[in-house]
Amino acid sequence: MKPAVLAALLLVSTLTHAQAPQHVHVVSDDAFSDMQSPQQNERIATVVRAVDELRRQGRLPQATLQAETMDLAWPLLPTGRFNQFDYHGTSNFVDHGPPYPGPIQDYNCGTRSYNLPSGYNHAGTDYYLWPFPWSMMDEGQVQIVAAAPGVIVGKDDGNFDRNCSLSGSASPNIVYVLQDDGLTAIYMHMRNGSVTTQAVGTRVAAGDYLGLVGSSGSSTGPHLHFELRDAAGAVVDPRNGQCNAAPERWIVFQPYEDPHIDTLSTHSAEPVLVGCGVDSNGNAVAETPNYKDEFTPGDEMWVFASYRDQRNGQITHFSITRPDATPFAQWDFDLASQNNPNPFYSGSSVDWKFTLPTNAPIGVWMVTALFQGQTYTRTFTVGLSLPPWLPRLPRPPRQHPRM
Ligand SMILES: [Zn+2]
Repeated sequence: MKPAVLAALLLVSTLTHAQAPQHVHVVSDDAFSDMQSPQQNERIATVVRAVDELRRQGRLPQATLQAETMDLAWPLLPTGRFNQFDYHGTSNFVDHGPPYPGPIQDYNCGTRSYNLPSGYNHAGTDYYLWPFPWSMMDEGQVQIVAAAPGVIVGKDDGNFDRNCSLSGSASPNIVYVLQDDGLTAIYMHMRNGSVTTQAVGTRVAAGDYLGLVGSSGSSTGPHLHFELRDAAGAVVDPRNGQCNAAPERWIVFQPYEDPHIDTLSTHSAEPVLVGCGVDSNGNAVAETPNYKDEFTPGDEMWVFASYRDQRNGQITHFSITRPDATPFAQWDFDLASQNNPNPFYSGSSVDWKFTLPTNAPIGVWMVTALFQGQTYTRTFTVGLSLPPWLPRLPRPPRQHPRM
């Protein structure tokens, strides 16, 4: 047998064909949602009306920007504790449809929103932490920042922040900013104790810290509910589409479906997920990611990936390569293989289990995922401890969440 043929056979025989995923998780429609009770709605309206009165009295800046101006910057910012590609999914847009039980209608004439028997039509956009919302919240990985310049005109803090249900009586931690464009922006469900110490009346610039993502108030999981109201208290949807004639207000366009890999990582054991941030005894709980990026030959190793806006038929090509760049494993993943009830999910995650051979080559290995034309890579080591002055996980190039 020719050496080249022998080498090729050896390569094939040592290439691990990944088994089916161990666990695929998809975000249910109501996992990151919220409700405004009539009382909370009245509280919001009271703040907005008070703002309007102050402005009439000349005690606040007049609206300075044209209504058509696209003036909203991205309202979330990862902190130094964050080292993945992205950190969020978008669960719900504004519902423009008639009240319950009328049909849902988001700005794009789709159904990525909801209404409730209480008469509440979802009034904002929900950005949730993903894929480990409770531990990401506990670690303060994502802060909420002002989307546009303005003046803080109201804020509440001190409320419990691990809610997992729509309860009309729970109060949110919240910041209201009267923007220079004349709209009032509402940032809701913040972590307890995280609300900005800036006093009401303080001017903020776009990007200024307002709080941390939490699940305070009537909320089913850690997310930011971002809402705009005009001076009359009417809800304004900042996304322009066939079912919303109001102008587009985001500086960076956010596609209706925005398929991306949020995280790609290696682990010592399967990540442990939790449905709610409190257990049945009322104790705080969070996910256990089991991150690990330094292995020894013979170790068990898990590869975990999380997505936002994943649709059946969008195939991801995964590979694991040895230090000499030869393939250790390669496989494809398509959410369609899971026979889920829906063809599309705003958030999803999947993991696979491998065993590194006892003769695994020492050095730096790489996991790569190719999804929707973008390549995502992470490195891990086998039999090698990186010197302490090197970053534990090489930080991937930052991608704007909506590029
Ligand atoms: Zn919401």
